Amino acid sequence: MAMDRVDTLELDDFAGVSGRAELVDPFGRAISYLRVSVTDRCDFRCAYCMAENMSFLPKAEILSLEELDRLCSAFVARGVRKLRLTGGEPLVRREIMTLFGSLSRHLRSGHLDELTLTTNGSQLAKYAADLKAAGVKRINVSLDTLDPDKFRAITRWGSLDRVLEGIDAAQAAGLKVKINTVALRGFNEDEFPSLVEWAHGRGMDLTLIEVMPLGEIGEGGRLDQYLPLSMVRAWLAERFSLSDIDYRTGGPARYVRVAETGGRLGFITPLTHNFCESCNRVRVTCTGTLYMCLGQADSADLRKPLRASEGNDLLYAAIDEAIGRKPKGHDFIIDRRHQRPALSRHMSVTGG
Ligand code: SAM
Ligand code: SF4
Repeated sequence: MAMDRVDTLELDDFAGVSGRAELVDPFGRAISYLRVSVTDRCDFRCAYCMAENMSFLPKAEILSLEELDRLCSAFVARGVRKLRLTGGEPLVRREIMTLFGSLSRHLRSGHLDELTLTTNGSQLAKYAADLKAAGVKRINVSLDTLDPDKFRAITRWGSLDRVLEGIDAAQAAGLKVKINTVALRGFNEDEFPSLVEWAHGRGMDLTLIEVMPLGEIGEGGRLDQYLPLSMVRAWLAERFSLSDIDYRTGGPARYVRVAETGGRLGFITPLTHNFCESCNRVRVTCTGTLYMCLGQADSADLRKPLRASEGNDLLYAAIDEAIGRKPKGHDFIIDRRHQRPALSRHMSVTGG
């Protein structure tokens, strides 16, 4: 990696020589959180996320690891304090640890509070120790069921044992693990109590996520999958004592404490409770496309200004222009009249 040049540019930026302001959108929300989808590829084909026969982006369109570093660093220089690498599956991107390693300099310099990732866990056994060494402290692992056959069915290509080994490795390496579970009607609602007990028994938070209408996913509509978390919370409250707590991780989850387990349970509810008013994040894809809102189509191309010159002026101008267009919120709806995806883009493009 051409680290000498990158470091020199950043020294100027961080020293305030460029006089660059922090990023604030038209609704007064400071942008402090960037999610980066480092690849659209994945070794799973989760039924709610992808069709089985996905066509992926040509490699030539994808930013190199050096370009991803420069892009992330430009956001850090403009006030982003939290970076989450996601995908597709971030850990299937070749040499991905180089990117974690280089980004970790912002943790050491104090310009970044957190470097983290969202993963399906399949490669964690291999990478847990390297992640820890790069300064990663907490990770999110997606897991929708603890039944090996159901796991294979929902991921189409995944192995539960391998993911569980990955979680073991992550915890052994000293990483804090949070489990993310998509709530799927008729698939895993009977498992929520056991998932809560399992996760909390291992010292992990669990967050339930409402399925979002992103991308064509083949057979079956979204109405088949959608399970409002307001209902799930009411069921769980019959089984456990739940009390609201203020705990926040910088993301959109609202947490409760489960008295019986002592653990935290989060709910991410884009459909039943819209959380846009406190949105502090934007997303960038592996082709350098910036999405100002997960639920809106509007985007900005950052690859062109990134590649147009060695300095960051054009890039900063493009970022400023895009943040100036960040919309107030999304309009996800799933009901009988809206069975089509709200957006044609899959979650694996923007990374959730
Ligand atoms: N491959 C990694 C993983 O599965 O954790 C990272 C990318 S994945 C797109 C990020 C998160 O989005 C996962 O927790 C996944 O379950 C969730 N997800 C994917 N499609 C979704 C959808 N349509 N609605 C809600 N969540 C979705
Ligand atoms: Fe891959 Fe994650 Fe999408 Fe599953 S949810 S197909 S693991 S990107």
